Amino acid sequence: MAIAKNPDYKRIATEEAWAPTHIIERFQKLVGTIGDPGFDSLWGFYSTSPSQRAQQVFARLQDLGERRLADMDACGIDVAVLSLTSPGVQCFDAATATSLARVANDELAEACRQRPDRFAAVASFGPLEPANAAKEIERAVSQLGMKGAIFNSHTHGQYLSDPKFWDIFAVCEQLQVPLYLHPQTPPPAMIKPFLEAGLDGAVFGFGVETGLHMLRILTSGVFDRFPKLQMCIGHMGEALPYWMYRLDYMHGVTVRSKRYECLQPLQRRISDYLKENVYVTSSGYGWEPAIRFAQQELGVDRVLYAMDYPYEYEADEVRALDSMNIPLADKKKFFQTNAERIFRL
Ligand code: CA
Repeated sequence: MAIAKNPDYKRIATEEAWAPTHIIERFQKLVGTIGDPGFDSLWGFYSTSPSQRAQQVFARLQDLGERRLADMDACGIDVAVLSLTSPGVQCFDAATATSLARVANDELAEACRQRPDRFAAVASFGPLEPANAAKEIERAVSQLGMKGAIFNSHTHGQYLSDPKFWDIFAVCEQLQVPLYLHPQTPPPAMIKPFLEAGLDGAVFGFGVETGLHMLRILTSGVFDRFPKLQMCIGHMGEALPYWMYRLDYMHGVTVRSKRYECLQPLQRRISDYLKENVYVTSSGYGWEPAIRFAQQELGVDRVLYAMDYPYEYEADEVRALDSMNIPLADKKKFFQTNAERIFRL
């Protein structure tokens, strides 16, 4: 039975994936050709497996019309904040990534124009050309009405903690839009022990890779340079909220010991940046204890709802989160008003 609208709050899902057929076809052609076992594992599976899971995800990803709206209705989702699925344009060469991001952003913005009551979106960009990436984020936000930008962790093994990428942070801070760090598989230099155990995907590898990327951004001093920048991470913060105490302690002693040239003193503690510059979404987490822990430690204004459609599409999770034992005012922040404020919906 479909989940009814909630009279007390809208349900806004903030990490919902889409991919146009032409990009999926490019993914299929790329499998086995770019020396990235993580990409081969992920897209080899979703684009060729006869399993019900792969087939369903594959079909749902490509729909921006009736099927998606019907699925949203069935789970009581009022609004979806859409983005190009992982790894987005980042598996392509730099020039292709820049031009494909433009095309994908135009397509997604058109879908939002068709259904402004149901869809909003965040913009893709090709990180390897940071100046062009910044221009595209500007265009997508100012001209297309997109609500922020998103990237899928490493780009051919490179991390945005490298200052050569920092134009991307600068433009998001200047436009006052959130920058969403979404997972992808670990890069070639890291993936072997994950892959041999079948743990490279969303089950675990995604979280390790993305938590590491967020931490590299934090420890590189990005938020000292761009103190008003706001980022989002999914999957209840890729485990980082649970690490905060140890990160503060060990980062502090390591910096003071001058053990690594790359770890310089920061203006605030790691946990301060997580509490003041990072939002956490519940994508893939229909689990009340984790959500309450994040609300308690990061603040109720920092935690917001996401489903992770179509990779996670479970009506029972919506029911479970609807019945969380938290005050209604906090539930409304979680499902609705935090997303409205952060993404300026
Ligand atoms: Ca996702």
